[in-house]
Amino acid sequence: MRIRPFAGGTHPPDRKEGTAGRAVRPGPVPDRIVLPMSQHLGAPCTPLVAKGDRVARGQVVGDVEALISAPVHSPVSGEVTDVGPVLTPGGVRAMAVTIAPDAEQDLTTWVPIQAPRDDVRATVRAAGIVGLGGAAFPTAVKLSPPKQFTIDTVVINGCECEPYLTCDHRVMLERAADVIAGVGLIAAAVGAKAVFIGVEDNKPDAIAALRAATNGAEVEVVALKTHYPQGAEKQLIWAVTGRAVPRGQLPAAIGVLVHNVGTAVAVLEAVELRKPLMERVMTIAGAVGDPSNFLALIGTPIETLVEAAGGLLPDAGRVIAGGPMTGAALASLDVPVVKGTSGVVALTENESAPVVDGDQACIRCGRCVEACPMNLHPFAIASHADRRMWNGVERFNALDCIECGCCSYVCPTRRPLVQLIKVGKAALMAKGVK
Ligand code: SF4
Ligand code: SF4
Repeated sequence: MRIRPFAGGTHPPDRKEGTAGRAVRPGPVPDRIVLPMSQHLGAPCTPLVAKGDRVARGQVVGDVEALISAPVHSPVSGEVTDVGPVLTPGGVRAMAVTIAPDAEQDLTTWVPIQAPRDDVRATVRAAGIVGLGGAAFPTAVKLSPPKQFTIDTVVINGCECEPYLTCDHRVMLERAADVIAGVGLIAAAVGAKAVFIGVEDNKPDAIAALRAATNGAEVEVVALKTHYPQGAEKQLIWAVTGRAVPRGQLPAAIGVLVHNVGTAVAVLEAVELRKPLMERVMTIAGAVGDPSNFLALIGTPIETLVEAAGGLLPDAGRVIAGGPMTGAALASLDVPVVKGTSGVVALTENESAPVVDGDQACIRCGRCVEACPMNLHPFAIASHADRRMWNGVERFNALDCIECGCCSYVCPTRRPLVQLIKVGKAALMAKGVK
């Protein structure tokens, strides 16, 4: 098939060699599990347990009756030790349930999901599944597109274009058949006839594993050019289908749904094993003693996993939740893994690229414009946001920004472009601009 390149983008070194060959291993059972009630886009959950309650593995500990939300389940048996606000990886405080796990844990069993077996959407909702690529949008909502749209194509995202991260790569290698089976469930749930799995061509073993696992299924595994941000939703859809998502619209408007490979496996486990989303594959990489891929219990403190990965090396600098292009620097390692945590990357002091002192003036070189895959003028949006000139932020279409970080990456004066653009976007959204 014809692969369509997208405009802009960049080529950060992928730095995946530290963990690409590391098989997924179970993460440790920590001495406390911390479960924020907001691990998804949409309405936060309400805690359904109180301090002193006993909980079972798989029990729902938070839920809310809202269209866009996802329940939270305990990944361990144990006792609730606190219900109150905690610091989250996003740097904000949120209501959470903290659990002291029992000394003995049976991680092979759980409280099964209560939902009709033949209703994939209800099962996925009850399982608390969200997009595991990092966006954490509730999957059941994605499986229920507005009635005016007909979904004919499902695109599964196996690009994993962020440097350092290899969790999706390992899932495709180690669970290829489960990815294909989960994709089949997703496609059947929305009535899609065409199914593509897009994988960057720097993962030939994953491409081969998926192709071998298709076993006659109507799934096309597409090798895509390694070019950041190939895994961004609009760029992926364009590359695979040749369809462009119109400004301000969802992919459903052009008949397409995009899901992540890890999400496909979670859907399969929910439907076949009645298993809620209580754990996820994630990468701990960079300046740590033993870079690893873990099947981590949701709610495990990140410092526990960093220790399990050999601890921070002496030259470690900033530690980032997610990848270095789109992730956020952690203020503390004492924050829990949440459903959207695809990895933690410890950059070295050198890599941390300290922000240049002074005013970091724009020299009008135009590199950010060339690199922007959304055809925006990042320098102009950032400059208006810096001066709180929100009309200018809107006029330069800041809300089209996908926060890929290409502009910041290529800027020779290290202007904090994406950070300023995020501020501008937040201000527009607070004003109700769509
Ligand atoms: S403006 Fe937004 S979409 Fe464009 S390069 Fe910067 S972060 Fe990416
Ligand atoms: S890359 Fe940086 S210096 Fe160049 S135009 Fe953009 S903001 Fe200005």
